[in-house]
Amino acid sequence: MTKLDIRQIPVLSDNFIYLAREPDTGCVAVIDPALAEPVLAEAKRLDWRITHILNTHHHPDHVGGNLEIKKATNCTIVGPAHDPDRIPGMDIQVKDGDMYDLGATQMQVFFVPGHTRGHIAYWSKDTAALFCGDTIFSIGCGRLFEGTPQQMWTSLQRLRELPPETRIYCAHEYTEANIRFSLTIDPNNMALLRRAAEVKELRAKGKYSVPSLLGEECAANPFLRADNPELAEAIGMEGKNAVDVFAEIRRRKDIF
Ligand code: ZN
Ligand code: FE
Repeated sequence: MTKLDIRQIPVLSDNFIYLAREPDTGCVAVIDPALAEPVLAEAKRLDWRITHILNTHHHPDHVGGNLEIKKATNCTIVGPAHDPDRIPGMDIQVKDGDMYDLGATQMQVFFVPGHTRGHIAYWSKDTAALFCGDTIFSIGCGRLFEGTPQQMWTSLQRLRELPPETRIYCAHEYTEANIRFSLTIDPNNMALLRRAAEVKELRAKGKYSVPSLLGEECAANPFLRADNPELAEAIGMEGKNAVDVFAEIRRRKDIF
């Protein structure tokens, strides 16, 4: 078992790019490079040689650095087979259930449509790390640009089944805004109130609120709790099915 050494690179207004190094072989993956320059600079500073790019979905703030990084490093670009035409420079297509070898460790691929129709996530069991792009955010989830509430809810339910100690390496620092919204629909949730206090303190110190722990998200993130009867009741949807509750929470967030 080999654990990834993960570094977080903040770029643009609120994006995170990740570098993940597999220590046995020295393989280094960049996850969702919005830009090339800060990634190449950080790799140089760390003396890490980039061998892979792993993309979760096609949005520019996730693939914008692909071609320039590939040109500079000759790395292999891995992305969703479910979205073959929209990932610049893709060399390897992976699909749901694939185990992609990153040096001596493996990344398990989950097909998680909803935010986009081709979105995937990468899970390292050895590291207890999930790179989920714009599917789960801390106390939030991605907007439904191309998918239905049913698709996104199914995707979230699958990711929710991962071990609670899994760290959620999402692609944006949206947590404070997500908390402001979530408190309007789930104001008495102790786990959410705890998270709100914690994030307030982190952000006041200039620290990031990402990664977060899946176990804590399951208790505090309303988008992962659409099948919770108390939450349904809190938004006046007592007895409604989880997809409808999820769709309503997402709709309210979209106009918040
Ligand atoms: Zn996106
Ligand atoms: Fe994004």
